[in-house]
Amino acid sequence: MLLQRAKPLFFAGALASLALGGHAHANGQASHVWISKRALTELPEGELDTFLADPALTLMLLNGSMYPDGGYGPVDHPNAHEAAESAHWEPYQDAYRRWIMDTYDQPWSTEAKEHVAFYLGMSAHGMGDQVFDSMFMQRSAAFDPSPLDDFDQLMDYILVDRAGDTEVPQDWVPEESLLLIYDSIGLAYTSQAILDGQAVLRAALSLINAAASVPANITNAEDTYPWASANLLEVSAEGSPPVEAAVVRRYWQVNWDLLHDRGLRRPVLYTFPYDGTANHPIDSSNIESWITIVFSRGLDASAVGNDFFLLVDEDQNPVPTSYQLFYGNDSHVVHLKPTQDLTPDTVYTVTVDPGLTTVHDEVLEGWSFRFSTGAVAPDPINDDDDWDNPDPPPDPPDPSETGTEGGSTQDTSDEGGCACSTRRSPPSPWLLGLLALPLARRRRRPLS
Ligand SMILES: [Zn+2]
Repeated sequence: MLLQRAKPLFFAGALASLALGGHAHANGQASHVWISKRALTELPEGELDTFLADPALTLMLLNGSMYPDGGYGPVDHPNAHEAAESAHWEPYQDAYRRWIMDTYDQPWSTEAKEHVAFYLGMSAHGMGDQVFDSMFMQRSAAFDPSPLDDFDQLMDYILVDRAGDTEVPQDWVPEESLLLIYDSIGLAYTSQAILDGQAVLRAALSLINAAASVPANITNAEDTYPWASANLLEVSAEGSPPVEAAVVRRYWQVNWDLLHDRGLRRPVLYTFPYDGTANHPIDSSNIESWITIVFSRGLDASAVGNDFFLLVDEDQNPVPTSYQLFYGNDSHVVHLKPTQDLTPDTVYTVTVDPGLTTVHDEVLEGWSFRFSTGAVAPDPINDDDDWDNPDPPPDPPDPSETGTEGGSTQDTSDEGGCACSTRRSPPSPWLLGLLALPLARRRRRPLS
């Protein structure tokens, strides 16, 4: 402790890598835990809220919320990075969901509930990273003076400084079940590597708490990223952790329906600007003029493009936009960037044509929403009843009619029996000696 205080910047560097688990960018571990806890508080009363309110499942939810980053740590396995990367994305998570559905009948046993909570945590992690990177981090790149090299870890320091220490959960990881899923996608991995990765993340949380208590680290973060530091916990800052939590709780609602074979609740989780809002910036050189759509399912990059999206003013005049599926295949986030300035005091409508294809071969229904560049908000096209109503859709839609929840490309249906033991063996001895060393960086996907 004394050494940390004597050399705060040295430790900031060492802790940084642990904090982000090897990502070049994306949320750090403190943020992931915070987001899931916040999302829990925002669920409408109902069966999902009741399910996750069970304190016995919090351990699984929080461990799942951390899990995907473990393999980015100093884990002694050649496939560790790939295992971590895979666990961030919906194909892996869907395979796990299908394994749960195939393995456990309703009503769920305690064991099944633990898997469901861990799965929902994993889904929160992947969605959170996408929202943070595509929206908040992009704004920091536009508004802050520094490159993003230290972004995630310094934002974790700021979050802990503002919101308080993160409670560090004990390790809980269903490594044998996760191995089955890795097997199903053809990736060799080991239980020990999974356990080591989770141990690294737990250590990272403790170290982030310590680092955030060092005033020099907070000052450094504020000087490096002044806009992001000032806006990290602002719900008005797009992609901030509070916004991530709002998206995550909707994603949980979607995934909860899928867990119950109820089909897809909505094709779109969230938009910026929000449906029926005012004062959207008109300057096309300002990132705040971007229009962002977060889809409920990962999109197939080869099957989507600008043709599916239309931005028109109130006279139906189209506005040219450039299109970006952030992170490409599997991603949920699409940016539409106006390539000319918008007109003041005008209502615009965004339309997503039906027919977008997901990586699970689902075909999505269309979507539309409107906003104004003036001070008066237009009536929204949609309402939030779907999200705020505790009752799920009553009848499972016919997939052949709706095109939703079609066959996954992952097939784990031949996996029988329970493989849910959760060994709590200590991390490998060599690992403890490595905890202060910088981690390898996450291999970034090229933006597309
Ligand atoms: Zn991550």
